[in-house]
Amino acid sequence: MPEPGEELARLAESGLLRSLRTLDSSAGPRVRREGRDLWNFASNDYLGLAAHPDLASAFIDGIRRYGSGATASRLVSGSLPPHHALEEDIALAKGSEAALCFSSGFAAATGSLPALVGKNDVLVLDKLCHACLIDGARLSGATIRVFPHNDIAKLDRLLTSIRARQSEARVIVVTESVFSMDGDLCPLARIVEAKDRHGALLFLDEAHAFGVIGPAGMGLAAELGLQSRIDFQMGTFSKAAGLSGGYLACSKDWRDLLINRARSFIYSTAPPPALAHAARTSLELIRSATGDALRQELRARIKSLSPGHPSPVIPRILGENTAALAAAERLENLGFLVPAIRYPTVPRGTARLRISLSASHPPLAVDALRDALAPLE
Ligand SMILES: *Cc1c(COP(=O)(O)O)cnc(C)c1O
Repeated sequence: MPEPGEELARLAESGLLRSLRTLDSSAGPRVRREGRDLWNFASNDYLGLAAHPDLASAFIDGIRRYGSGATASRLVSGSLPPHHALEEDIALAKGSEAALCFSSGFAAATGSLPALVGKNDVLVLDKLCHACLIDGARLSGATIRVFPHNDIAKLDRLLTSIRARQSEARVIVVTESVFSMDGDLCPLARIVEAKDRHGALLFLDEAHAFGVIGPAGMGLAAELGLQSRIDFQMGTFSKAAGLSGGYLACSKDWRDLLINRARSFIYSTAPPPALAHAARTSLELIRSATGDALRQELRARIKSLSPGHPSPVIPRILGENTAALAAAERLENLGFLVPAIRYPTVPRGTARLRISLSASHPPLAVDALRDALAPLE
């Protein structure tokens, strides 16, 4: 039996070893790490809401009103007023009949997919789907089919062949609106047409679009007016919303089924009620004129670094792990925190820098980053 040390040595040899490095500051646009001040292009706080005073006040107010912990699973005694109010707010904002919250986006995916399908069903995933969607798919026991990234012709062919053999199966297409490591969008309108044509359902992870894209920041489905045609709209309060906690917006019946079957919901203590209380304030901010102004700032940052790019996630693909690590180290020496992303987060041979922009970045910091990136072009 190999010792863990041997496995670690093997990871290090292939440039795949990861380790934790602590920040000596809070996680804003400017951070301090190992004695150095850095511009932080590594966070998903796209609107800068993690440091917004209204969220901090709401969090504290929530603790005063509801205490610090939920003390039990939602199905036992942990279902408190802010949990329900937040779910009503989300359903209203997403144009769905209902919504259900989870302790994280990861828990939303790994809990809901196995609750929605089983071994006689089929999940059809985009090749670049996030790890939590892959893990949720595996846990479900359903047949997993994968289509090449954003390839609608292949998706259509796959759905045709699945339907020819399993006319009665529950078939769910699973994809993301903004891909987490590439920052590109899925061709949502064509995916909706395809799933409808084949009597399939659609599970859309809007993790990086929620708060960022669409009217009032309500995501790509809202941007395209397709919310009512998407069976499961998933998202998280951990990115643009500046907090944490996942959600799934869906019909009331699906929600009731999830409450009965989603194991990450049933067998896990409810998120702190104060967090749900603060999430309501975050949602309100995102949908307000403040949110609109922050999104405008964010769009200006995107335009200045990468004109025409559709999201604040901007990859610079370098290929080899060592190339990505060296580039991240060079940027760090220049005063920028930009993560090197490697296998298995991205496919082998596509190691990259992943830059994420925020409305909280001063324009000068983005200009300086652009100059620092120039040698890589
Ligand atoms: C971050 C992320 C998640 C997980 O959300 P958490 O709330 O951080 O657990 C799910 N899907 C995608 C695409 C993500 O990028």
